[in-house]
Amino acid sequence: MWKRWCPRYQVGKLVDLEPAFLLEQGFKGIMIDLDNTLVNWGEVEVTPETVNWVKQAKTAGLKLCIVSNALEYRVKTVGELLEIPWVSRATKPRKAAFKKALAILKTKPEETATVGDQIFTDVWGGNRMALFTIWTPPLSTREFFFTRIVRRFERRVLKLLKKKGIISE
Ligand SMILES: [Mg+2]
Repeated sequence: MWKRWCPRYQVGKLVDLEPAFLLEQGFKGIMIDLDNTLVNWGEVEVTPETVNWVKQAKTAGLKLCIVSNALEYRVKTVGELLEIPWVSRATKPRKAAFKKALAILKTKPEETATVGDQIFTDVWGGNRMALFTIWTPPLSTREFFFTRIVRRFERRVLKLLKKKGIISE
């Protein structure tokens, strides 16, 4: 039951992921969540650190795609700014958007990692697609009201995953 919510890997934030490490692990494509992973929730402002990470990842040869449940205009703004493709209104954890992103990336699920801050959308959805799921704690505490409700249950799952030694503090 709880295994569907287990990330395969955990990182403090997106920019801590070494592109070289991802390539070494055999990954060619990376799907990245928008809110609280790439930018603070509800914003389109990208930090210089993140811009730099995206540049490095692209130079290293990784293909990137934003996959976000957010509305088109914000996802598009960030996608255009970073010059990476995007899938908006993704309705994660449903599979359709992940399939669309795989088609954009032209990678197989086993060559693809997905990074996101929510267990019930990013991690669950990625696991359903047999992608390598990477979980990061949210960048900011501001969130969609519905997300805040879901987070209460997520906290219980995170506690269980910590207890089982799957993720650390
Ligand atoms: Mg998010």
